[in-house]
Parts: sequence; structure tokens; C-alpha cells
Amino acid sequence: MIPYKHEPFTDFSKEENRRKLEEGLNTVKGYLGQDYPLIIGGERIMTDDKKESYNPAYKEEKIGYLSQANQEHAQQAMDVALETFETWRKSSFEFRSDVLFKAAAIIRKRKFEFTALLVKEGGKPWKEADADTAEAIDFLEYYGRNHLKLKNGDHVESRPGEYNQFHYIPLGVGLVISPWNFAFAIMAGTTAAAAVTGNTVLLKPSSRTSVIAYKFVEVLEEAGLPKGVVNFIPGSSRDIGDYLVEHKDTRFISFTGSRDVGTSIFEKAAIVQQGQTHLKRVIAEMGGKDTIVVDSDADLELAAEAIVTSAFGFSGQKCSACSRVIALDDIHDELLDKVVEKTKKLEVGNPESDINVGPVIDDASLEKIKKYIEIGKEEGTLEVGGETENETGHFVHPTVFSGLKHDDRIMQEEIFGPVVGFAKAKDFDQAIEYANSTDYGLTGAVITRNREHIEQARRDFHVGNLYFNRGCTAAIVGYQPFGGFKMSGTDSKAGGPDYLTLHMQGKTSSEQF
Ligand code: NAP
Repeated sequence: MIPYKHEPFTDFSKEENRRKLEEGLNTVKGYLGQDYPLIIGGERIMTDDKKESYNPAYKEEKIGYLSQANQEHAQQAMDVALETFETWRKSSFEFRSDVLFKAAAIIRKRKFEFTALLVKEGGKPWKEADADTAEAIDFLEYYGRNHLKLKNGDHVESRPGEYNQFHYIPLGVGLVISPWNFAFAIMAGTTAAAAVTGNTVLLKPSSRTSVIAYKFVEVLEEAGLPKGVVNFIPGSSRDIGDYLVEHKDTRFISFTGSRDVGTSIFEKAAIVQQGQTHLKRVIAEMGGKDTIVVDSDADLELAAEAIVTSAFGFSGQKCSACSRVIALDDIHDELLDKVVEKTKKLEVGNPESDINVGPVIDDASLEKIKKYIEIGKEEGTLEVGGETENETGHFVHPTVFSGLKHDDRIMQEEIFGPVVGFAKAKDFDQAIEYANSTDYGLTGAVITRNREHIEQARRDFHVGNLYFNRGCTAAIVGYQPFGGFKMSGTDSKAGGPDYLTLHMQGKTSSEQF
């Protein structure tokens, strides 16, 4: 088998690739505004109750109308998943991995269509959408290969006269709940990891980006995934979300999303329901408040570029986005000037025409960001940005605040928009102390030429993903396993060597001769 290598990014400076993306956009235009059914046990179920998915850059453009599962559908999906588990768990490791490899190949062939769908449904600029599609392919390729390595279990010792074995077996029915911000990669990665390991899945995607999830389930079917292994059940979180989280037969929950929802799922899942015969396992990957520390001797051009890319890529709507800068006193002003200058050059608009900064996802998000911009004006100084537009689409201009204290609200709470705050530190020790002073621990970066400071940060900067002399976003599957500490989640490390076993249980058997 070809060794795993991450999917290359598309170079959109090449005319040929620009043309292919235009073609992808045309393909997507051809199926805009359709109705989408639930998929339970392979059966298409169209409901009267539908939720629209629209283009956040151009609200009038409807991407599709999604049938909404109610509790009866959720129970029907659970019954199918329980039944299918009995056959799927016995299928061979090769069969299950092959489905993922085939799915990756199908997506690779339709790469520009999927990227175009992310531009429209997720409001992603071309480059960001391309990276999302590439990451979805990476998850399939990487988990497919890693799964095969688990086939023979792990080696354990045997004494004379006995034969000991240790194997991983699946858990049961898993509930996968995914966010809109990596509408393809995270949804596909969490679903694929749960299914390839022999579990059956109830997939509840984000209501904002369910069309791409539907298209992915179609790809899995085309790749040969048996009916009932992955069941597609978009629906109201309050209704089916709680119902399935609390369900006695839900064996595990793989959640990616906000801290509030993640912690409430964690609490609800801990309660043992009547008739429940296991403790639920919860994988919860949640928010971030990610810091870039800039040292006195740093390359300030590199630092400014890293901050702008990490803070404003996909309008700051990444759990890994840089939303705090802690700069050493002596270089703070020069760094700030550079960041402000670069920020002013960013173009905001509909990402369909390959623009740097697209929309934010919806009204609620725009209102939340606006509220934080007002808080920022009270706590610090607005250097650039602050404007919002909400007529054709939901737009927030990249915004920089300076003069903040490390414990101001702008520096503590996840805004999830294109807003970054600057605070000063008197020395490197203080910079690391300030960097650690949030509830979160997802990503961080340090820009420095000082080797001792690199080692100090490696030891003391308490984040799941730490980067040196680069930005704090853009982890690559299989290269930089991703997941956070503290209130950022359970540190499950998606795209890492241990991720799949979180969806399995270890079984020891011992035979005496
Ligand atoms: P969210 O509001 O928490 O929603 C995430 C998912 O949970 C959606 O599918 C949502 O469905 C569902 N949900 C909401 N309430 C629920 C409930 N009571 N029971 C069951 N499911 C429920 O988060 P988001 O706005 O989609 O995503 C942004 C957040 O995700 C940010 O905080 C970001 O930092 C975090 N994130 C973390 C990572 C990571 O790896 N650590 C990666 C990406 C994003 P509906 O859409 O139907 O409400």
C-alpha cells in the first residue's frame, strides 16, 4: 500500500485550477435549493418539517432544504444501528478500511465540486475550502491505514502453557455530532473513525451545513458502506440531540463544537439511564482562545504574517484561530503597526470571487461578534476594523484591538470571529504566564529565535498543539495530531495514532494449554 501522505493543497494562482473551481461552482449551482431526506438504514425519508441551509455570503441563495428527524426517526435510526452493529462488527478490517480508501478516491475525483460546495454552504474562501476538502480526504486515508494496523491487536506476553491475546473490538452505536466550521473535514473524520472501527453511527451534522454531510453519506454508499452503518439524521438539537445523548443504547458520543454544548453533553452522558448496561464514552472537542507569543528577538515580519493568517483565515471561525497576541514590551509597537498594515490590505466579500475574508456563518454569530467589538472598545483601543454588514450576507471586517490586559474579556472569551487582541508582557516568563491564563488549552504559537525560550515554551505553554515560528492554525492529519487541554476538550487528538482506539475497547483473552 502507498504510504500515507497528506493531500496537496491546490495552487489557485494557476489558471487551470481557477477554471476547475469555476466548474465546481457551476456543478453546485445545478443542485441548489433541493430537498434532502434523512437516510436511515439506506432508506430515504422525506419529512414535512424542513430546515433551510443558505449561503452566508448571499442570504438569498438557498443551498438546500433538509428534512428534520424527530424523536421517532431518532429511535428508528437507533434500532437500525443496533441491528446493523451485529453484522458490521464482524466484517473484516480490510473491508472496512477499503470503504474509506474508496470514499477518499471518489472525493478526490470530485474535489473541486466539494470545495465549491464549502465556498457556498460554509462561506469559505477558496483556499480555506480547499484545505477543508483535503483534510476530509486525509482523514479517510489516514484512518483507513491506521485501522489496518489494529487488526492483530497489540502484543502481550504469554507464560509457558498459556496463550494470551489482546485485541481491540468496537463499542456499539455511536452518536456523531459535528460543527459547521469544518463542515466537511470534521464531519467526515469523526464519522469515518467511528464507522471504520466496526461501530454503527448516528450522524447529526450541524444544521448550518447539512448538505455537505448528505453528499458525504452518498459517497460512503457509493464506496460500498453497507446500509445502516451510517445513518443521516439532521434535526433539532433540543429534540433529537438530547434524546440520543441520553438514550440508554448510545454507547459513545463523538462531539465537536462549543464548550457550552460539549460540557452539557458530557454531564448528560454521565447519567446512567434505566436499562443502560455500560458507561458512555464521550469524546468532546470544544472551543479555544489561542495565543501567539512574540518574543523580543522575533522576526517581526514572520510574526505579523502568522498573526494575520491565524486570526483572520476563515474570518477567525476556527477553534485554533489566534485571538490573543502577547508581545514582549520592546517589540510590541512595531509588531502592532505591521499587523494593522497587513490587516488593512485584506479584502472582505463574497468568497465566490476568491477573496481573503468571507462572511461569518449567521445572524447569531454576527450579533455575538458585534457585542464583543463593543466590549473591545471599552477595554482597549480599536486599531482597525470593527465594521459589520448584514444585508446581502453576514460580514465582519478584520478587527484588531490593542492596549488590553491579559485578563480582559476580549482576551478570555471565545469570540469565534475575526477579532484579535494585543497585550504586553515585560519578559518571556510573564508572556508564558499570560498565554496560559485562560480556561482553554487548544493551540498556541511562539515566534522567537531564542532556543532556550523554545524549550521553556515546550515545557510550560500548556496547549494541545504548540507551534514555533509559524501560525497556530492548519494542523495536518497524521503530521500534527489535533486536540486540546483544559476546557478545550478531551484531547482526543484527531488525525493522530491513538485516535481510533478511542472508538474501541480492548479485550484480553487467555487460553491455557
Ligand atoms: P455548537 O453550537 O456547539 O454546535 C456543534 C454541534 O452540536 C452542532 O451539530 C449542533 O447542532 C449540535 N448541538 C447543539 N446543541 C446540542 C444539544 N443540546 N445536543 C446535541 N447536539 C447539540 O458549535 P458550532 O457553532 O457548530 O461550532 C463552533 C464551535 O466549535 C466553536 O466553539 C469552536 O471552537 C468549536 N470547534 C472545536 C474544534 C476542536 O477540534 N476542538 C473544532 C471545530 C470547532 P445544530 O447545528 O443543529 O445546533
